[in-house]
Amino acid sequence: MKHDPATEIQKLKQFGEFGDVNPSITDSSTFTFLGADTMVGTFHGETEGCFLYSRHWNPTNKYLSDALAAMEGTEAAWVTGSGMGAITSAILQVCSAGDHIISSVTTYGGTFAFLKNWLPRFGIEVTFVHIRNFDMIEKAFKPNTKLLYTESLTNPLLEVSDIPRLAQLTKKHHAKLMVDNTFTPMILSPFKLGADIVVYSMTKFINGKNDCVAGAICGSQEFINNLIDVNSGTAMLLGPVLDPLRSSSILKNLHTLHIRLQQHSKNATFIAAKFKEAGIRTVYPGMPEHPEHAMMTKHMNPGFGYGGMIAIDMVTAERANKLMEAMQNKGVGYLAVSLGYFKTLFSNSGSSTSSEVPAEIQKDMGLSPGLVRFSVGLDFDIQNTWNYIHEALVETKSI
Ligand code: PLP
Repeated sequence: MKHDPATEIQKLKQFGEFGDVNPSITDSSTFTFLGADTMVGTFHGETEGCFLYSRHWNPTNKYLSDALAAMEGTEAAWVTGSGMGAITSAILQVCSAGDHIISSVTTYGGTFAFLKNWLPRFGIEVTFVHIRNFDMIEKAFKPNTKLLYTESLTNPLLEVSDIPRLAQLTKKHHAKLMVDNTFTPMILSPFKLGADIVVYSMTKFINGKNDCVAGAICGSQEFINNLIDVNSGTAMLLGPVLDPLRSSSILKNLHTLHIRLQQHSKNATFIAAKFKEAGIRTVYPGMPEHPEHAMMTKHMNPGFGYGGMIAIDMVTAERANKLMEAMQNKGVGYLAVSLGYFKTLFSNSGSSTSSEVPAEIQKDMGLSPGLVRFSVGLDFDIQNTWNYIHEALVETKSI
């Protein structure tokens, strides 16, 4: 039976202290104990339901974490102050010096830089692979491989990871599969498809307002308990916790995610088709010619569409920049990084969110210098938006 993430969230009964329909905000960093013994027990992780200190757990963070776990179908979740806080804490919980990671070469630039430049300083080796090339992935496994890392829909090339197939490989090699599902919350449920750990930048679609930076880690209760262990948990010891005031506002936004995704998907489908008609190379997983369209259709949860992310190829960065400036001037949206916002955002990935990736690797992964990544907004009249884009294309002699 298919997982139904929107209904799982809707079914939650999370009341506040006074029956508030929005759970109370616990605006407190520390918590009192009526008995000294209970405090000792809480330090040892023995007293279920007791709150100790908000870097460890805060009731408001727990409400949001429980909602995310319901969405993912995992036993537990933990929320962080950024997507990078989630990714780095989760990776460092799984891997130690002497371990090996296999990662998709196409990942968000910050993740790529962490894997390529930062982890080797601490004796963790990383091999980058093309996530569509299963021979290459299989050959990359070593006896000390602990983790295979990928994004469900890769940033910025929009390749779809075949999560069940990757999960089979990681199980065979006694490694874990970690999936960043930032581009496709609700649409894909990586844990249900076989991943061990799911990470998010909630800065994007989950929150949807571009008013904060936040992240999440979803997985087994054992993994989340390990993350917040007072002696050895990376989340507890590196301290990337999310502020509870933000958790409260993100939780409210999470309840409208399913509706927003439908509109993002509808608008992106429309714009992708128009770019294609205009003769511009367009990548959108909802298009039948996308290499993983059929696979994604098989794996996705029905009802949310293929998401709001599309990529077009303007061939050179100069042409991309001219078009983006013209689109911004006409009110199509903003020339800005990030995504999942109610307005359309566009950026030239090679020179922005993937600029951490060296030019030769960008070339090897097939990232065109002219790639413009769009996060299509919630526009009511998408034909009108296209009219502006069309004017910008004509004005900049792009078509
Ligand atoms: N993962 C993906 C796919 C992203 O696009 C980003 C940011 O752009 C991140 C993770 C990092 O998230 P944050 O900026 O919330 O730290």
